[in-house]
Amino acid sequence: MTDARATALEDLRSTLTGTLVLPGEPEYDAARSPWNLGVDQRPAAVATPADVADVQAILATARATGLGVTTQPNGHGATDALEGVLLVRPSAFDEITVDVEGRTLRVGAGVNWGAALQALDGTGLIGLAGSNPEVNVVGLALNGGHSMFSRLHGLTARSIVAVELVDASGEVRRVTDADDAELAWALRGGGGLFGVVTAIELELFEADVLFGGGLVFPSESAVPVISAAFALARDVPELGLDVGMMQFPDLPVMPPHLRGRVVASVGLVHVGDEASGRALAERLLAVAEPIANSLTAFTIGSLAAVAAEPTDPMPTADFGASIGSDDDGFAAAFVEGFLAGAAHGLTRAGLRAMGGATAEELGSELSAVGAVHAPLLLNAGVLLMGPAVDPVVALQPLRDLDARYGVAGGVPTMLGPGPLSLAYPPEVLERLAAVKQRVDPSGVIRSNRAITG
Ligand SMILES: Cc1cc2nc3c(=O)[nH]c(=O)nc-3n(C[C@H](O)[C@H](O)[C@H](O)COP(=O)(O)OP(=O)(O)OC[C@H]3O[C@@H](n4cnc5c(N)ncnc54)[C@H](O)[C@@H]3O)c2cc1C
Repeated sequence: MTDARATALEDLRSTLTGTLVLPGEPEYDAARSPWNLGVDQRPAAVATPADVADVQAILATARATGLGVTTQPNGHGATDALEGVLLVRPSAFDEITVDVEGRTLRVGAGVNWGAALQALDGTGLIGLAGSNPEVNVVGLALNGGHSMFSRLHGLTARSIVAVELVDASGEVRRVTDADDAELAWALRGGGGLFGVVTAIELELFEADVLFGGGLVFPSESAVPVISAAFALARDVPELGLDVGMMQFPDLPVMPPHLRGRVVASVGLVHVGDEASGRALAERLLAVAEPIANSLTAFTIGSLAAVAAEPTDPMPTADFGASIGSDDDGFAAAFVEGFLAGAAHGLTRAGLRAMGGATAEELGSELSAVGAVHAPLLLNAGVLLMGPAVDPVVALQPLRDLDARYGVAGGVPTMLGPGPLSLAYPPEVLERLAAVKQRVDPSGVIRSNRAITG
């Protein structure tokens, strides 16, 4: 680091109400570490602003020194491109306000979905949360966001009502369709390229009763169960449905019925009562006997228990693709591909059912993330357990599957690492680039996803 930069960062530290941690300091390793421990990111400094004035000071220092600024609440979507970047942790922005009458949720940029959903318990309202409670509300919404409620109400980005941010010039803005329709369009799916977001407001939806959970089946039943789940998804387009294969480690901490096994799973979320939900699930239970069944009536604050995903930081290599087929042939090829990858350490592969409201054009003129026409989104991960696991080899069968069945377009949050061009057509990328040029011509704000790569 040059002397001028080092001095500027020391000056910044002395002006902040929040904190700044620099390389070489004892707190640096913990501060720079993302949720995905497989990514070794080394930013020029890690700032935890206490308020909007701190964010303005951080951006002023970045502009003066040529550093970039990336906001990373958790690092679920971390990449290793943080050299020359001032990393912003927005944890101090922890407001959660539910407007029951106006049906909106307002949260600060440090709030994760688990906390936001707990605030909705008892209101009769739901937000378009992802499956993991530790994923950040702003991070999911700006990047598209797929929810188990998306087939009923659309992708999360489309539920954005307002975004409060500090732009690259340091101006504090509240962006709505009325204020700046083009920037609002870009924020609905264009990711963290347009400013440091400090708060977001999202539309909420009515849902008095919820039913759902997970079913786990032995791998021998995987093909018929997955085929039946695809058919259920086609027949009931508002049902939230997630189909997957998983390989559990052969470790004593695992429950005996799962230890060392490869299993198929179906996650299901139904906005409706238990009786109607159980009738839908019966179509899967009629195919095979599950080895675990957590289906139950639940409240929105417990949504995370439905997916029961691990929440602790871990080293993973991820891959995602949009899949153009949901027939029985694809179900068989998916299971075959997973088993081939599992032999080399592939840990999990999930398929989110699309269709329903995710495929509707309605409202797409307001949002960079448009209607998605793929019936399934594939998302897979390899737990990097030592040098014996090569993620390139473990993920190859799924890349082959993508080559055979993949289609263009998708949702950035579900596509693994890579630029927005993986998800969007050229005309959307050009429009995003034009907005970026207008609001941040010097490219101070860096996202985990560039527009093209
Ligand atoms: C276990 C797990 C489960 C997941 N489940 C789902 C799911 O169900 N549905 C789904 O759609 N996705 C899911 N994802 C993907 C996840 O939604 C994306 O990786 C998302 O971008 C993560 O947001 P984050 O803020 O937690 O991560 P981070 O890596 O901290 O942030 C991701 C990016 O968002 C931008 N950003 C975040 N906050 C701000 C801000 N305040 N201002 C400006 N830019 C900002 C930045 O560009 C940042 O690089 C999952 C990921 C994991 C690891």
